[in-house]
Amino acid sequence: MKAAVLYEANTPLQVVDLEQQGPQAGEARVRVMAAGVCHSDWHIMNGDWPLPLPMVLGHEAAGIVEDVAPGVRHVQPGDHIIFSFRTHCGRCLHCSMGRSILCDGYPTPRWGLLDGSYRLKRNGQDIHQMARIGTFAERVVCAAEMLVPIRKEMPWPQAALIGCSVPTGVGAVTRCARVEAGASVLIIGCGGVGLNVVQGARLAGAGKIIACDLLDNKLKFAEQFGATHTLNASRENVVEAARKLTGGRGVDYAFDAIGGEATTLQILDAIRPGGTAVIVGMAAMSVRAPVTPYAMAAQEKTLKGTMYGSVRPNLDFPWLVEMYLEGRLKLDELVSRTYPLDEINEGFAAMRGGQVARGVIVFN
Ligand SMILES: [Zn+2]
Ligand SMILES: [Zn+2]
Repeated sequence: MKAAVLYEANTPLQVVDLEQQGPQAGEARVRVMAAGVCHSDWHIMNGDWPLPLPMVLGHEAAGIVEDVAPGVRHVQPGDHIIFSFRTHCGRCLHCSMGRSILCDGYPTPRWGLLDGSYRLKRNGQDIHQMARIGTFAERVVCAAEMLVPIRKEMPWPQAALIGCSVPTGVGAVTRCARVEAGASVLIIGCGGVGLNVVQGARLAGAGKIIACDLLDNKLKFAEQFGATHTLNASRENVVEAARKLTGGRGVDYAFDAIGGEATTLQILDAIRPGGTAVIVGMAAMSVRAPVTPYAMAAQEKTLKGTMYGSVRPNLDFPWLVEMYLEGRLKLDELVSRTYPLDEINEGFAAMRGGQVARGVIVFN
């Protein structure tokens, strides 16, 4: 079974053969058909998120169920699925509240199976699976509760993106911030997640959709996805420009799709009094941003974080599939380039260079 393994931070992924144990109780084996190249993988590759290695990376993917172990009822061999990179125990406080993205039903590390054991080995060494799945692999054995069945008409690369960037961006608008029709929205960062914040704002009926990035080619993408205005932050002051576009007041909602000190402060400065700023992009764990408590109180500003767009995967993944099949959700335009697994490091180079909306690994 071939998979892309990170052995050491700041070294390329190694595509190698691994031994894979079959699914145990409550688990399934999935043949991966497509897997997106995401900045979260890069955070592990470059050491921003120090996690135990070696690890199969990848967490945004879709595939076909091949085999299920006893105790699995909601999927069966032949089903098409999208992986959720969060567990859904169904019993913890957060699952009970309908917020399964925050599920804390399992005390075991988030890079192995639910029971704390591992299914992958190479030369006698356990290999971890990113987010308990690790989808840069021909086959994944994981907890079946992390698999969301979908309609079989869905094409694979587009389906894969519904595993991370699409729900993260669209959900940030529709599920976390709950943007109203007519509202003004600023989006900082127009990569795979930011473009989905833009299209989430379009789906929500936002009035002004102001997209901001450092690269003009990404701003072109943003226009395709529904941005009404674009700002190049290398040439313009984002906060001043956003205020100017909203009568000097500031936007109703601002989203940081990058994750960092400067952008956190920009979204807080760019919203009007009473407005909401949302942190969507995942920063390095060490980043801090100094907020001004006086201004937060005096101007009644809200700062929120969202993980995975605060979606409910079992509800929202099939909804996003429907929206795509009805022609209302743009996904074809996101899949800029596809690669075989052997070329995965080129996929990360293209992402780092800002050349692609999203690169996708396809398997055959
Ligand atoms: Zn991701
Ligand atoms: Zn739970």
